[in-house]
Amino acid sequence: MISYRDITLGLEKLGLDRSTPVLAHVAPSRLGEIRGGMETLLGAILATIDNVMMPAFTGSTMIIPEQGPADNNLDYGSGRDTNLNASIFSTQLPCDLPEAQICEALRAYSGTYRSSHPILSFCGLGLDVALIDQTPADPYAPIRKLMELNGWVALIGAQPAENFSLHYAEFLAGRKQFVRWALTENGILECPHFPGCPDGFHKIDYYLQDELRVTTVGDAAWYAVPLDILVNSAVALIKEDPFSLLCNSLSCPRCNLVRRSIKSQISNNWQPE
Ligand SMILES: [Zn+2]
Repeated sequence: MISYRDITLGLEKLGLDRSTPVLAHVAPSRLGEIRGGMETLLGAILATIDNVMMPAFTGSTMIIPEQGPADNNLDYGSGRDTNLNASIFSTQLPCDLPEAQICEALRAYSGTYRSSHPILSFCGLGLDVALIDQTPADPYAPIRKLMELNGWVALIGAQPAENFSLHYAEFLAGRKQFVRWALTENGILECPHFPGCPDGFHKIDYYLQDELRVTTVGDAAWYAVPLDILVNSAVALIKEDPFSLLCNSLSCPRCNLVRRSIKSQISNNWQPE
């Protein structure tokens, strides 16, 4: 069982403090039993970090249209029944990520702000400036702003695949992304630059070397890294090797579409000597 003190000590060992704005990916189910539960977990995080944000994603708003762009890993027309059950996005719509409890606890905290991307919103405390400009067409605005604020990313029991900021690096490096659609109070909105498969994101750790802080709390490894180092390292890596950070499954439809787009770019740019 881990305590309030174990959590604050773990965050301090990662190098996080009051002056560091943090994008926290927290997976309570992987932290073991916490004395005092979710309230202790959130209390310890907010006692150590003044300005924090977390993903508040809402996949339930997604709509599958009858037709759309090719190579988009979507079975157009397959949503005639499921579209009827889609939620309308509002800033009050509960997060539906698998580890939503911690984000919901943060949302219930007074003074928090929720950004307005209908699928990929974030909830934050003291980070309105990073959250306010997110639009359906600019899902990575909170990451970009947090980089400007010298923010950090922390994975608190969360897996490397949950490290959403790497999708911003993919965007910056010009990697193929996808288009999705979401139901909002203003009708159905198109959401471009939608991220691909994150199952190869653990491969970045090797390149971060000394920059990645690691500590163990209970049975879980916790990680933290400055956001600019994470994103800039990943952009450089993808530019050097366009296939990097993709997953190893030969049957992964999203990674295979990315591979295909890279190969067609390479062959279009190739010129005989
Ligand atoms: Zn994949």
